[in-house]
Amino acid sequence: MLIVMKFGGTSVGSVAALEKVVGIVTRSVQRGDRVVVVVSAMSGVTDMLLKGARQAAQGDTETAHRMHEEMLRRHREVIDVFLTDPAVHDEVLNAIETLLDEFDSLCHSIKVLGELTPRALDVIAGMGERMSVRQVAAILESRGVATRALDATQLIVTDSNFGSASPLMSQTTRRTQEVLVPLLNAGIVPVITGFIGATEDGIVTTLGRGGSDYSATILGSAITADEVWIWTDVNGVMTADPRVVPDARTIPYLSYIEVGEMAYFGAKVLHPQAIRPARRAGIPVRILNTFEPEHPGTLITREPNGGDKRVKAVTAIKGMSLIVIEGSGMLGVPGVAARAFGAVARTGTNVLMISQSSSEQSICFVVPTSDSARVLAALREEMARELERQDIENIMAQDDIVILTVVGAGMRGTPGIASKAFGALGKRDINVIAIAQGSSEYNISIVVDQRNADNAVRALHAEFGLGANNTSTTT
Ligand code: ADP
Ligand code: ASP
Ligand code: MG
Repeated sequence: MLIVMKFGGTSVGSVAALEKVVGIVTRSVQRGDRVVVVVSAMSGVTDMLLKGARQAAQGDTETAHRMHEEMLRRHREVIDVFLTDPAVHDEVLNAIETLLDEFDSLCHSIKVLGELTPRALDVIAGMGERMSVRQVAAILESRGVATRALDATQLIVTDSNFGSASPLMSQTTRRTQEVLVPLLNAGIVPVITGFIGATEDGIVTTLGRGGSDYSATILGSAITADEVWIWTDVNGVMTADPRVVPDARTIPYLSYIEVGEMAYFGAKVLHPQAIRPARRAGIPVRILNTFEPEHPGTLITREPNGGDKRVKAVTAIKGMSLIVIEGSGMLGVPGVAARAFGAVARTGTNVLMISQSSSEQSICFVVPTSDSARVLAALREEMARELERQDIENIMAQDDIVILTVVGAGMRGTPGIASKAFGALGKRDINVIAIAQGSSEYNISIVVDQRNADNAVRALHAEFGLGANNTSTTT
């Protein structure tokens, strides 16, 4: 089999984890698989890089200096244990130190300029993967696996939407095949940075936080892999975030659509875009646990078998704002909604959910809080005349809200799911601010106050019988 295996931050974040990675990759190679490895930065490293850069923009390079020391310590700890050949040890350590020195001088420039551009931020954010890849390749090599460390900047071609770039698939496919096919044919395991790509002009971009998952499916689709395996720190995709719901269970099978909805609505286990290349190419994706490699995890395919539960999972996405446009004069004014969404679209904001009250006296929709000020300004400008005439009385934002989403393909055509969800929240005095049902009927989304988020997730999880303590299989 040709398998792309992606190892997340925790999976490459410690000596113990890397020992597991070595076991997983060597077993697969010994079985005769052809393997491509995609690695994240060591856990916490991307955050440290971003923190150093942001502080530098405020005139403080002391933080970057501290982060440098901490990142060096983390890498050194691993290198010292695994790389016992002094020449290899020093070569990898030097490569990492060179990158960290580059980080220092970039932070220095940022301080001098007093400005941190999205483009500079992407160069810095991607350094964690560039350090990690050299380390992981050398470790595997030291355990007898022939490897080649590669920066995805030479494989994944993206647009120049810094911070959340999208791949240009035809160019990416051509370059990836050119580089990877000869290596694979020679029995070499390519070890590739996750998270980053480059524009056609070679400028570094990132695919958004958590983007190494996306890298894996992009590369998997480029080489038409048989499967993509996402190795992480939990037993697959679960019925809810296990940090919030202790009795969350593994979902053995999911469809591309279901997992896509879950990721879009906050299940951090997979990057929101990551499923798309796999879905287009029809490549099965497995979510597996590095720390429990024998666990079957979750298998994601087009038509999952055995998945007869109506509701499969509950997710929550925090840090959202509800934008409300209201006014009795909106009734019958044609095109208000179209103009409103046109104005929002021009700000480049992602609208996660829309709901209109049946009276047509209000339109509300949800955007990330980080975009809400821009959205309000754009709407007030677009609707200036209506506001003046008081056809629209108010355009406002309610911050600190969360979207809860109940997901499952089997919900389609099953009545009563929404009322059951409201009942569960009502019993706990959790006020529902807005609701929407996806047109696909694969999800129902409910907006509540962020204060209630965790309780609400637990309430819905219990109500639909998703927990390990519950044997219900019908709803
Ligand atoms: P990695 O570094 O391997 O990419 P992430 O931290 O990005 O790992 O994603 C894995 C984490 O996602 C888990 O540790 C878990 O806390 C969180 N998570 C949130 N929702 C879910 C869910 N529905 N199923 C599994 N994990 C989830
Ligand atoms: N290291 C990047 C991040 O922390 C990408 C990833 O881990 O997937 O967002
Ligand atoms: Mg992740």
